[in-house]
Amino acid sequence: MDFEETAEDAAFRAEARAWLEQHAPPLGSEDDFVSDREGGGLNDLGWVKRCKEWQGVLADHGWACINWPVEYGGRGGTSREASIFAQEQSRFGVSNGVFAVGIGMAGPTIIEHGTDAQKERFLPKLLHGDEVWCQLFSEPGAGSDLAGVSTRAVRDGDEWVVNGQKVWTSGAQHSDWGILVARSDVDVPKHRGITYFLVDMASQGIEIRPLRQMNGGAHFNEVFMTDVSVPHANVLGDVGGGWRAAMTTLSNERALIGGGRNGPDFDDLVELARQRGLDHDATVRQGLADTHIRSRILEFLGYRVQTATAHGETPGSEASIMKLVYAGHLKRTAELALAIEGPAATLLDADAPADGAWQQSFLSAPSIRIAGGSDEIQRNIIGERVLGLPKEPQVDREIPFREIPRGA
Ligand SMILES: Cc1cc2nc3c(=O)[nH]c(=O)nc-3n(C[C@H](O)[C@H](O)[C@H](O)COP(=O)(O)OP(=O)(O)OC[C@H]3O[C@@H](n4cnc5c(N)ncnc54)[C@H](O)[C@@H]3O)c2cc1C
Repeated sequence: MDFEETAEDAAFRAEARAWLEQHAPPLGSEDDFVSDREGGGLNDLGWVKRCKEWQGVLADHGWACINWPVEYGGRGGTSREASIFAQEQSRFGVSNGVFAVGIGMAGPTIIEHGTDAQKERFLPKLLHGDEVWCQLFSEPGAGSDLAGVSTRAVRDGDEWVVNGQKVWTSGAQHSDWGILVARSDVDVPKHRGITYFLVDMASQGIEIRPLRQMNGGAHFNEVFMTDVSVPHANVLGDVGGGWRAAMTTLSNERALIGGGRNGPDFDDLVELARQRGLDHDATVRQGLADTHIRSRILEFLGYRVQTATAHGETPGSEASIMKLVYAGHLKRTAELALAIEGPAATLLDADAPADGAWQQSFLSAPSIRIAGGSDEIQRNIIGERVLGLPKEPQVDREIPFREIPRGA
């Protein structure tokens, strides 16, 4: 693993920055659509629209899906280049965050498991920002134990009929398509009876209900499916082989969340300490040093994920480690920021220092410990796959799904 930026990477960064300077509005300018703390994110229709437009600009200029293969419209670059571009883009007032599930998770899964027809149908529209995707995985009774999904898919000729409930579905309210895992066979052990579907969110029988979060947003939803018809052509991978494809999605999701750098960062924290006159306070300085060390560790973990991807591997335990460290880092950094703010930490939005950015970060941090697999689940993965510890006892792994006791 090479920690230093190579001459090629530096040249790529310079090219990306020069292009962004020409095409993206600066942060804080009138056209900036990411700095508005009142709006922005999946709650905000205006933000969704601007993300789509920006993705279109990226596609038109060959900057969309940088690490997708050229044959699928990508730039054929490395994941390091994708990450460099994301870093550079974050200095401007633009985002394509509404495509996190589509480009970050659905796309790579379609590339790895999809038929030619599926790749042809879905990848170009993702690339150009025409279609937004959501992830229909979690259920009220299946989150950490995702293999326990009970949403049923029953084959009827060339179609599948889907019934069940999903929950915590980020962005379902804006989505054109969903990646869905559903139970297609109850007579085999749970991991073997799952099929992965690509679902048109405009299908009859889909009802989306928003859920409100403690940070004020309502970015995710409950999704109810009643006799939803899905063409057989929209099965991704093999019938009953959905778990394999789901693993591709989940490891991409972990890498995405762990590699995410949204909101204020170390430099903002130092600036906050200066503004509050606490940059010479010994305890604050210790906290700043800890924050800096964690940021650097995360950077190196990012290189590990990029190295795995560069070797054609799906990021596995590396992504789990990065996600675990990132979730803890976010929480501790926000806690330090609020401690520095003192009584002003109780304010919100425009009344608070930095327009409430640290309050948002503090209120959102717990969700990162849960989304994409909780801290405890990442620890289980690291324990088993990295440290070689014995597997957790799984009494329901080898028995048919229908024999697993379940609540009503
Ligand atoms: C912001 C956010 C966005 C999300 N977006 C989506 C989305 O778009 N699509 C989607 O499908 N899902 C989404 N999720 C759901 C997320 O994937 C689940 O919340 C997560 O997998 C945990 O599942 P659960 O909530 O059912 O908790 P549970 O699985 O019920 O876990 C409850 C607690 O028990 C612990 N636990 C469970 N099993 C074990 C174990 N074996 N060993 C040790 N501890 C254990 C967990 O760590 C947790 O603390 C989102 C969640 C969040 C917070």
